[in-house]
Parts: sequence; C-alpha cells; structure tokens
Amino acid sequence: MDVPQFLFGQRGNYQLADSKGFTYNKDKTHGSKTYWECAYRQRFGCYARLSTVADKIVHLKGSHNHPTFRQKVKINVNLVVEIVTEIVTEIDKNLDLNLFF
Ligand SMILES: [Zn+2]
Repeated sequence: MDVPQFLFGQRGNYQLADSKGFTYNKDKTHGSKTYWECAYRQRFGCYARLSTVADKIVHLKGSHNHPTFRQKVKINVNLVVEIVTEIVTEIDKNLDLNLFF
C-alpha cells in the first residue's frame, strides 16, 4: 500500500504524512502496529485514522473532512483563515517542520 513519510517534531513527537499530503499524529503502538490519528482531529473534528506496520500503511479508517494543504481547492474565506491560523500554530510548535511550503 501507501508508503508514508515520517516527520519528526522538535520534541520527539512523531508525525506521518501520506502520499496525498494528509498528516497524522502518533496515537499509540500495539505490538508491531502503530496507530495514527489525523493531525487535525481536534481543530476540524476529523476522525480519519490509519495504522502502520514496519513503516508501511496497512489500514486506513474513515475519510478526512478537510482538504490537504497541498491540494488546490476552492474553499471559503473562513476556512482559509482557520487553515492559516493552524499553519501558524503548527510552525510555532514545530519549527523544523516545513510541511506546508
Ligand atoms: Zn483529517
């Protein structure tokens, strides 16, 4: 399946980006499986999740209720403001993540 990209935040927190540009935060590990949840779970209430084994995506659950920041889509101004706020927050949190640029 999809081979994800692993990203590392400043405080050792893991993030994963799939080939479509969605990002996930590490949730937990169970045996050889690692579970991830959408990085925008809290802000957008997105419940898309996936699990990886040996750094490969083996299971994808749910769908994202928001665009990725690499997609060119027509979105309303309020959402743009939210996204920009989120990007600024993310940059502030993880200065070494140049994910959106
Ligand atoms: Zn999502």
